[in-house]
Amino acid sequence: MKLARYVANDGMQIGCIDPSETTIAPLPGVKDIFDAIDRSAELKAATTGKARPLAEVKLLAPIPEPRRNIFCVGKNYRDHAREFSNSGYEAGAVKGAEIDSHPAVFTKPANTVVGPNDVVQLHAHVTSSVDYEAELAVIIGKEGRDIARERAYDHIFGYTIVNDVTARDRQRNHKQWFLGKALDTFCPMGPWITTGDELDPENLDVKCWVNGELRQNANTSDLIFDIPTLVATISAGLTLKPGDIIATGTPAGVGLGFNPPRFLRASDSVSISISHLGMLTNTFQ
Ligand code: MN
Repeated sequence: MKLARYVANDGMQIGCIDPSETTIAPLPGVKDIFDAIDRSAELKAATTGKARPLAEVKLLAPIPEPRRNIFCVGKNYRDHAREFSNSGYEAGAVKGAEIDSHPAVFTKPANTVVGPNDVVQLHAHVTSSVDYEAELAVIIGKEGRDIARERAYDHIFGYTIVNDVTARDRQRNHKQWFLGKALDTFCPMGPWITTGDELDPENLDVKCWVNGELRQNANTSDLIFDIPTLVATISAGLTLKPGDIIATGTPAGVGLGFNPPRFLRASDSVSISISHLGMLTNTFQ
């Protein structure tokens, strides 16, 4: 199932996108994605309303107000770990120790979330080095603590795309990543959630274009710490709850990896596609 939150003539709805990704049909009585997660078994057999062309609706962030911070993983693709360490923007970078032995986990607060085609603010009074990060995001479906690697997928509802937008100067200057990752609009999300039964999350192509130029091109099979490891690590002594989001890290090709760096400027457009998850496009302003 591909689930989306969208606005049509008759207001905000939760709907189901058809397999060819051309139409969307409302799921009557479903309030939000949390409700859809709670009722996912019954929704598979639910009767939908009248389908309309996807092009005629405005898709919104699937989870516009996460109940708590989005969990994020840093340096989870080898080539990106190297480009980051060598860029001068990683506080405390150690030559020869670019690849971490344990996942680096940080969070983005809920104020960061925006939807497909929404504007991302450049916050020019705060930062001059805004960068993009294309990432596969995991949506938790079943509560759990101390989840074993081999049970991790039982706790996952589905997947979506996020752009882990980052102010590199703040990430570097403040030593800890939160401030550079937490600005309003810094987490574009969507355009929909695909449930876990419809894809193999360990073999998805991740691509990112800036103004039509391909910048990132990788596959989730290249993750250093795979999805079961991330779920096991984060849930160790910490209860993961339905609707929690884990952004799994970005591949090489972000703006700081260029010499000189190619940070985002006003009117730039960033598009991210991941297999089975559609395309997430945002303009920066
Ligand atoms: Mn990231």
